[in-house]
Amino acid sequence: MPTDAPRPQQPGNGRYAPSPSGDLHLGNLRTALLAWLFARSTGRGFLMRIDDLDRVKTGAAERQLEDLAAIGLDWDPPVARQSERLPLYEEAIERLTAAGLTYECFCTRREIQQAATAPHGPMGAYPGTCRDLTDSARAARRAEGRPAALRLRAAVTEFEVTDDLHGPYRGAVDDLVLRRGDGIPAYNLTVVVDDAEQGVDQVVRGDDLLPSTPRQAYLATLLGLPVPQYAHVPLVLNTAGQRLAKRDGAVTLRDRLALGETPEHILGILARSLGFAAVTDPAQLTADFRPENLPREPWRLDPDGLLQPT
Ligand code: GLU
Repeated sequence: MPTDAPRPQQPGNGRYAPSPSGDLHLGNLRTALLAWLFARSTGRGFLMRIDDLDRVKTGAAERQLEDLAAIGLDWDPPVARQSERLPLYEEAIERLTAAGLTYECFCTRREIQQAATAPHGPMGAYPGTCRDLTDSARAARRAEGRPAALRLRAAVTEFEVTDDLHGPYRGAVDDLVLRRGDGIPAYNLTVVVDDAEQGVDQVVRGDDLLPSTPRQAYLATLLGLPVPQYAHVPLVLNTAGQRLAKRDGAVTLRDRLALGETPEHILGILARSLGFAAVTDPAQLTADFRPENLPREPWRLDPDGLLQPT
């Protein structure tokens, strides 16, 4: 074989990355099922990552994993936890800093809200107050004891990504926070570092995260990391058209089990919501899974009127 022949592409990994802030509701389970289906139907590995740098409730991660397993999802070990991966994020921050691509920001949230949006920047973008502070101004702010966040010195205000369900999507990029004032690396950085480090080349998640995606893809490019394939899937809404939440009633798997339903029954309901016949094992869905056939509208759910999967 000639040495310059293209190497066969090894499929990478998909993943589900919940924040362990409480029990997953049916919408979260549906997104996890979709992420699993996208990965498994394309021969990819499937990883579970616990985004536990923020909003952690004790025991929630273990309960989430139990619930995902109960509806028949499986994943390739080990389960990653962001709290155990801090050196990776610091290394990425150091690389950006060495390239002159970061700066300290001393602004409080209120100051940012009150400042006008950057003259040429997208609406709501960081106005760049601390971007060009002189050394002495920076020293003065440090001396006041203000905690500094670290921001990206972005060279663009927009970036385009391609999404399997949304097509080309162009969105805002600003001087996003890389490390918060309390020293915790920020989500937009950790997600980029983790996906690349874990060989994740397919990101399937709720479409509330689509607007953050251009920032993440831009950051990946700056770090010399591959940009994954994206699919942002519709969220689940309550009968009033708002994002499904605890207050909507029996919305978690455990709530449903307490009503006498089984995990197979819930899987059947999720499968039906995706346009399939009810099944008892997600593996029964992989052969017929076609992303282009997925419903593009949010799933409207009335927990009080949840129907039998037939
Ligand atoms: N942990 C994030 C969340 O639950 C999702 C991260 C991601 O999928 O990129 O909202």
